[in-house]
Amino acid sequence: MKNKEIFDVLIVGAGPSGSNTAISYKNLNPDLKVGIIDKAIFPRDKSCGDAIGPGVINALKRFNNEHILDGEPEVISTSLFGPDNIGIQNYIPKVKNKDDSVVYVIPRYELDNRIFEIAKNLNVHSYEGVRYIDYEQTENEDILKVEIENSDKEKNFLFTKLLVGADGANSRVRKSLDLKQNSDIHKAIAIRAYIDSPNYLEIFKERTLMFEINVSALKGYAWAFPSKGNLINIGIGMPLNLFKKDKMDINEMLDSFIRTLESKGVIVDNLRMEKSYMLPFASSRPKLAHDKVALVGDAGSMINPMSGEGIFYGMEAGYLLAKETFGSLNSNDENNLNNNLNKYERALNKRFGMHFLSCTVARLVLQSPFMTKRLLKIASVDKNTINFVVELLFDEARLTIKETFSLAFKFILPFRTVRFFSKSPAFSL
Ligand SMILES: Cc1cc2nc3c(=O)[nH]c(=O)nc-3n(C[C@H](O)[C@H](O)[C@H](O)COP(=O)(O)OP(=O)(O)OC[C@H]3O[C@@H](n4cnc5c(N)ncnc54)[C@H](O)[C@@H]3O)c2cc1C
Repeated sequence: MKNKEIFDVLIVGAGPSGSNTAISYKNLNPDLKVGIIDKAIFPRDKSCGDAIGPGVINALKRFNNEHILDGEPEVISTSLFGPDNIGIQNYIPKVKNKDDSVVYVIPRYELDNRIFEIAKNLNVHSYEGVRYIDYEQTENEDILKVEIENSDKEKNFLFTKLLVGADGANSRVRKSLDLKQNSDIHKAIAIRAYIDSPNYLEIFKERTLMFEINVSALKGYAWAFPSKGNLINIGIGMPLNLFKKDKMDINEMLDSFIRTLESKGVIVDNLRMEKSYMLPFASSRPKLAHDKVALVGDAGSMINPMSGEGIFYGMEAGYLLAKETFGSLNSNDENNLNNNLNKYERALNKRFGMHFLSCTVARLVLQSPFMTKRLLKIASVDKNTINFVVELLFDEARLTIKETFSLAFKFILPFRTVRFFSKSPAFSL
């Protein structure tokens, strides 16, 4: 690596948030000198449910990159199982401002590498096996000095006008900014594994995302998401504060879910690659814009507290950051850059603030087993309710006053009355 590289933008982390930040800057201004470093060598695995929905498809389409999804099988429905043997299957509803009502399940080992490759092909300078250590201001006030280390622990420095922390849930850039990690109540722990199942599609009658909230973690959920061929991504997660309070064991939770799958007739072969990790929820976001530094993705706590989805929000944050700041990187006006970094933070809050709040409220309400059962019961006869839940999971839905009153009435009214007035039901399993 050459000394004294000076970048317009240096991104730490080549996951979907970091790579899409790089892709966005290069599309908005191909002349910018953009660098990206990652401590891993790609392709690399990342513990995840591997599900990407309409939002990610939209983000890829923005710069004509949706071809990386070619040939991937489409998932078209969700199957929700709850207490008292409730099971509801529902097609993924058409979501606002997005063209596609489908989900793909692509192992992150492949997906992240494909997105990173797009960035590399745009002439982004990429450094793999290189770890970010810290940064400091230089005498030239426009430039930051960034300390890095290769796998042989050899130290080096890079220089940049803007540093972007896209380095995930344990972000070191966030630490450099003296920002605390989310407290336990604002994060979840989840475990992911892969299995082969020759009869999954047969049991659920189609390619469906299966959610189960009837196992040991009533306060979280378990999933089984079909990928290519017989490959199924399975996992389970719950809020960390409840996990610690109830002294749960994440591997036992997974075992219990596997037994649940088997009790439904699903063949579970070749369990492998179990890996647990933290999910920092967007219910508690740190300040994202700092002096010549910004955070995107998990580094900035952008995971939907209800669904655990984070890829879309991180990729979109990268785009919003690039859109608000690319014009100020050539101007050598530090104030201009910092003002535009603040604009990025405002744009993100405007776009997702209410949505994240709605998902946080929904999550807290659904922490009560009584409310979960009631919601599932209502959803089993009322398509509007299940559509709204799925939009909270996969889109940017927010609880409006009208929506809140409508839901509150459905919770209070006797079940028979709800059923009588409901629109066509989702079909029960
Ligand atoms: C079990 C589980 C299931 C999930 N399921 C889903 C799902 O189905 N769908 C969904 O949308 N989201 C899901 N999420 C959330 C999703 O995984 C994250 O939101 C997403 O990975 C965030 O992307 P990112 O680019 O911000 O961070 P990451 O994907 O974590 O990428 C960060 C990158 O930074 C690099 N890095 C870290 N530290 C350094 C350093 N010091 N120097 C250099 N590089 C560094 C890492 O190597 C990594 O490549 C799940 C999470 C978990 C844990």
